[in-house]
Amino acid sequence: MPLAWGAALDSLASLKHPISIAGGGLAGLSLGIALQSRGVSVTLHEASTYPRHRVCGEFISGVGEETLDALGIAGCLEGATRLQSVCWSDPAGKLAELQAPGRGISRWKLDELLQRRFLAHGGTLLTNSRIPAASGVVWAAGRPRQPSPWIGLKCHARNLAMTHDLEMFTSPGGYVGLATIEEGKVNICGLFKQRRSTGAKGTGLLLAVLRGASLNALADRLEGADLEESSFCGVAGFQTGAQEGPSFRIGDAAVMIPPFTGNGMSMAFESAECALQPALNYASGRSSWTEAGAAAAAVQADRFRRRMTTANLLHRFLLNPAGLKLLGALARSGCLPIQAILHLVR
Ligand SMILES: Cc1cc2nc3c(=O)[nH]c(=O)nc-3n(C[C@H](O)[C@H](O)[C@H](O)COP(=O)(O)OP(=O)(O)OC[C@H]3O[C@@H](n4cnc5c(N)ncnc54)[C@H](O)[C@@H]3O)c2cc1C
Repeated sequence: MPLAWGAALDSLASLKHPISIAGGGLAGLSLGIALQSRGVSVTLHEASTYPRHRVCGEFISGVGEETLDALGIAGCLEGATRLQSVCWSDPAGKLAELQAPGRGISRWKLDELLQRRFLAHGGTLLTNSRIPAASGVVWAAGRPRQPSPWIGLKCHARNLAMTHDLEMFTSPGGYVGLATIEEGKVNICGLFKQRRSTGAKGTGLLLAVLRGASLNALADRLEGADLEESSFCGVAGFQTGAQEGPSFRIGDAAVMIPPFTGNGMSMAFESAECALQPALNYASGRSSWTEAGAAAAAVQADRFRRRMTTANLLHRFLLNPAGLKLLGALARSGCLPIQAILHLVR
């Protein structure tokens, strides 16, 4: 037997423990792909099915090629739209323009591509399935439900002319981003303070919420586009920041960065990368589940500390009328070091 084959089989034989993953979003699927491709037997439980729309800005920023390569998922992002120019406005008009390289791709498409790759590596995927937390189960179930003043809303639009690749709008009632994705479509996604129900539903609710947040010019513009009702989705009951949960957690289940940063998807991938070696150590019997979970948590805390501290601080300013006024005035006068801030939340 050639030496390389012998070594490969030795390493397979040394993987004693299979791993289960609860949650087939970006974090769970990318960890599942990375583990399967290294010979670990992975069963992934996803509460819903694929493809499906998710509340997400669909703007990926900050993820390095080395992370995508380590996870074996670079190919899934090949079809993403390359984005570069960004414009930030408030109800009174433009505040700043900047360059922030990123990728635009719908979760409908991305999660579907990732689950296909996981299956191609021989992983076992159980949809419409939930498992409880246990030893050997990586918790990648996304943001846990908890009381919150926020709602997140999103939908896709066709025939919407963009001034920049990404357009951000902030107001004291919330913030919203427009990102160019595949097939010339635009994803519209925002985080808003909950208000009394207007009775509106679907994309009508999104327009009503935009008007409630004084973003009337944007709402008028969206009314002139083709909003895809089937892509509309909403979410409530979540908080940003560090999350509580089972000991071995990744992605939003571990820590959720405020959405305005456009870095949550990158963090989902990066957290899978942080968890990879600890999970391999467990699979090969070199560490216990408790040790593996603690190691994964320590690597994630170290990697995300700076961006979480900066993003949490900025989030408070962005959603506070006085804070937003100050940030807006600094941005208009060119005194806000936006590129440096952007670097701190990556
Ligand atoms: C309004 C808003 C806008 C955003 N905009 C952006 C943006 O522009 N750019 C960016 O990078 N990030 C953005 N994010 C953040 C980004 O969406 C998340 O960080 C990312 O989806 C986290 O991936 P995840 O895999 O951890 O969780 P998720 O993508 O939430 O996946 C979790 C999965 O677990 C499943 N699940 C839940 N419970 C169970 C269970 N018990 N058992 C099995 N399965 C379960 C769910 O069905 C889901 O498929 C935004 C978030 C919000 C709320």
